[in-house]
Amino acid sequence: MTGSRHQALNFSGEAFVLEKERMACDVDTGAVFKHPVHCFGCGQAFYFTLRKIAAAKKLTCPLCGSDINLTDEAYGFVVASVKETIALIDQSSRDLQRTTAYTH
Ligand SMILES: [Zn+2]
Repeated sequence: MTGSRHQALNFSGEAFVLEKERMACDVDTGAVFKHPVHCFGCGQAFYFTLRKIAAAKKLTCPLCGSDINLTDEAYGFVVASVKETIALIDQSSRDLQRTTAYTH
């Protein structure tokens, strides 16, 4: 259990870098950004958008159809970091709107 969790975390770090490079500024980053979620049913990681991970309590594995229970403590770190990222995205888009409002 611990071994596969570590694998998933390393994988997600790399994915974040790749996704950030492709980031566009006028889209909802949380709906475009994806984060890998590890399926313990088939041992694979699948990409789901940040908004989906933050909103859903449960995902379905696209490969084996297993339930991916995001409330399970094994996903605690992934869900927490996704929510943190969304909070940052929401905050920076609010800052952007405020700046725009002041300059026009
Ligand atoms: Zn699976």
